[in-house]
Parts: sequence; C-alpha cells; structure tokens
Amino acid sequence: MREIKEYCGIFGVYNAPNAARLIYYGLHALQHRGQESAGIVTSTYDEVRQRPVMPVHKGFGLVLDVFDDPSIFETKLLGRAGIGHNRYSTSGSATNPANIQPFVVHYRDGNIALAHNGNLSNARELRQAFSERGTLFLTTSDSELILHLIAQSRRQRQIDQIIDALTQLEGAFSLLILTDTSLIAVRDPNGFRPLALGRLRNEDGSWAYCVASETCAFDLIGAEYVRDIEPGEILVIDQKGCETGQFERYFLPRRFRISQCIFEYVYFARPDSKVFGEMVDKVRRKLGKQLAHEAPVPEVGPDDKPPIVISVPDSSNTIALGYTTECQKLGYRCRYEIGLIRNHYVGRTFIAPGQDRREMRVRCKFNTVEGVLRDRIVVVVDDSIVRGTTSRFLVNMIRQAGAREVHLRIASPPVISPCFYGMDFPSAEELLANKFASIEEMRRWLGVDSLAYLSVEGLMQAVRSAHPDGLDYCNACFTADYPVPVEMGVTKEENEW
Ligand code: SF4
Repeated sequence: MREIKEYCGIFGVYNAPNAARLIYYGLHALQHRGQESAGIVTSTYDEVRQRPVMPVHKGFGLVLDVFDDPSIFETKLLGRAGIGHNRYSTSGSATNPANIQPFVVHYRDGNIALAHNGNLSNARELRQAFSERGTLFLTTSDSELILHLIAQSRRQRQIDQIIDALTQLEGAFSLLILTDTSLIAVRDPNGFRPLALGRLRNEDGSWAYCVASETCAFDLIGAEYVRDIEPGEILVIDQKGCETGQFERYFLPRRFRISQCIFEYVYFARPDSKVFGEMVDKVRRKLGKQLAHEAPVPEVGPDDKPPIVISVPDSSNTIALGYTTECQKLGYRCRYEIGLIRNHYVGRTFIAPGQDRREMRVRCKFNTVEGVLRDRIVVVVDDSIVRGTTSRFLVNMIRQAGAREVHLRIASPPVISPCFYGMDFPSAEELLANKFASIEEMRRWLGVDSLAYLSVEGLMQAVRSAHPDGLDYCNACFTADYPVPVEMGVTKEENEW
C-alpha cells in the first residue's frame, strides 16, 4: 500500500555541542516521514548583536539535498540546541516555500521556533477568528496558528503563554518548540502522533537530551531511548534539567479519549523504531500471525508445490514473516520467498506520453523475481489497500511473471474513511472499499484468486497482544469512528493565495 503519504518527522536536541549535526542525522533517519522539504533551526547567542538568535536553514527536497553544504554546520547553524522538520504537507500547499518548517519568529518575549507533526482539526475555526481580528498570515499551514496563539496570549510567563495556546488546539499535534532557554516537547492529549525522549552522553560527561518522532533517529546518533512523551504532556527541557535529569512537566486537559494512530504500526513507522512504547517490528509480526488465523494460505494437495508467501516490500516484510511462520505452525504447507524487489531510488520519473502514469510509477518502484514466481501459487501479503490501483498493477505484474494463482492477504481491515489527523488520504469516494459493495467485487477488480482482510477485532487484538500495556488507539480510517470531531471537506490547499 503506497497510496497514502506519510506526514512529518520532527527531531530536537538540547545541550549538545554539535546540535545541528545531530539533528541532520536524526532527520535523515526520519526521511520516510516526509520528503517534500526539510529544515533545521538552532538557538545561539550573537555576540555582535548581544542577543539570542535562531539561525535557520530550510528548503525543498530530501535532507541530503537541503543540507548538501557541510559548512552550514560550522558557520550558520551554531548552538547547543535546535529542532528539525521533514515535511509532507497535510495542511498548506506543498509548493509554497513559506510553509517549510521549522517556523521561526521573534516576539515580545524573544525568539521562538516550531516544528509540528499532525493536523489541527479546529484549524479553520481558529484561522477565521484570527482573520476577523486582522491577523496577517505568513503561511497557509495550520502550524502557524500555534505561534499566533502564543504571541497573542495575555499570560506573563512564556510557558503559560504556550500552555494557553495549546489548550485551544484540537486534533493531532506532536510539537517541538524551541525558545531562547529551552526545548519544549508536546504531545496532544489524544496522543495521535508518536514522540519519544532520548539522551546521549557528551564528551565532557554531561547529558544531551533529544526528542524524535521515532526512535530509529536515536539509533543513528547513538542516543538511548528514555521514554515516550505522554499524551497531553508538555516537557520543558532546559539546562538545569539536563544537569539533574528532572524536567518541568505540565499536562493538557483531555476532552476526548486517548487515540494513538494505529496506522503507525500498520504502515507508517519504520520497523526498527519503537512507537507508542513498542517495537513496530514486533507489532507487525503479530498482525501477520493474526492474519494467518483469519485467512491462511490456500490448502494444496500432497503432490502440489507448496504456496509461496511474498511481501510487498518494505512495510509488509515482517508482516509476511509472521504470517508464514504462523501458517506453518497451523499445519499449512507454505514457504516465505522474496518475489518482489523494490527500487528505493525512485524520484520524479519521466513518463512518456501515452504511458499509464500510475502503472509506470509502480513498475519503476517494483520488479518481480520471475524464477521465484513462475508456476507457483503465490500469496501476496500487504499491509493495507487504499485506492487499490497499486495492488492491481502489482497483481498483474506477478501474473505476467508466470504465477499460477495469486492470492491477496491484507493485514488491516478495508480503509473506508479518510484521515483528518495528519495523514494525506484520498477522498472517501476514491477508496477501493467504498467503490464496491463486497469483498468478492473487489477481488474481481483486483484480479486475484482470493482476497482477505484482517478484521477490525483482529487488528485491535494483534496490537494489544504485542503491547499489552499500551494505551488506546484511533482506528477511524477503518471504522469511521472519529475520536475527535472533524471538519469534513477541509483541503490542504484551501488557504492558498
Ligand atoms: S484515521 Fe487512521 S491514519 Fe488517521 S490517525 Fe486514525 S488510525 Fe491513524
């Protein structure tokens, strides 16, 4: 399933001599969460101007492209603290350079920078209220609203201004806020998006603290995972806290239930990350095992070659492993094979006129291993189906490679509703499950010999068995049960000039 886009990755560091470089590596590890643009802002003291400043460098493209000049880290992005952002737009146009984060502003209490992962579900209402008061907007992103709320707060202390602003937000927001004296990590009270705290030892023995969307970013810089930022928590990381290990914490009131995005486990997060306190790889294996109980491989006669199980790489690899081992345990003959190869270096591809753009994109991204697939019963395991166009092309390619039968097993329920909490989904009408009245009709359109999805109950059970101490989850894209009221019909470009 590659038809919905990741949203954003955020990474922050406090009290490290080489903060910007660590952020660069952290963003590199989080590249899968957003590829449209990247940026880093640091906090330092300008001796000439005799005041704290926040230099920023950002641009369109991948982290490697935006930061292709290493001298930026020696001459511009100075300081021991900073935040970074990888963007995939879910609010505000992808092509408007003003929307590239982190945002940096200067207001009456100093400099402040912001990196946001998520989507505010009351953004339209807030924007309207600001517009009526004459507020001028510099971007078309919902994240800018948070800075206006902070700047316009009547509270005295900066942390109270920030709390005042955050209590007015609804929806999904994992945030990093950089001030002249602290790095503030925030997770919305529902806990939609992940955010984890880590730390690493400086050469002088002191501790630097870091915060990341996923823990794979800690691994790259040699940091250790400390814990998750809790839903509703506002954690203030400052110099004193780095020395004592004790940080000021505040909590936002919760109006709706905890609803961590279950799709992080199904597809978005990297399998080598710990998300919501559990390894993604472990959860995906459980999804595969549950799927094996609900929809095992087809039974074959003793003289037939056993079916082969292949995954749609990369997000389905561990699901397919869990599925195969469980099918074998249940007594089904089958074997795990690598039948699809993914090309990781697909950027913008030139598509000749007359070629089917979508099909070419799928062909550029995947190729079949004919020697594995020829004359075999093939069970394809995928994490999810959204529009279904990618799956249909893949099935066709597998048949062209000589597969005798193709069976499709999906490790999540049918996607029936768009996400309003920070994922870029197609509209409800474009979703495959809404176009057909039954699984049988979908099976025929996809061109497979059998099609089976994991049930909603099976999904919840698998996730809970992998992570018994975990908090509750959002599964609205599979159930239409939205945990926080949403404004239907909001588009990411609606505020473009
Ligand atoms: S609607 Fe789906 S993708 Fe969006 S937060 Fe809920 S589970 Fe995640």
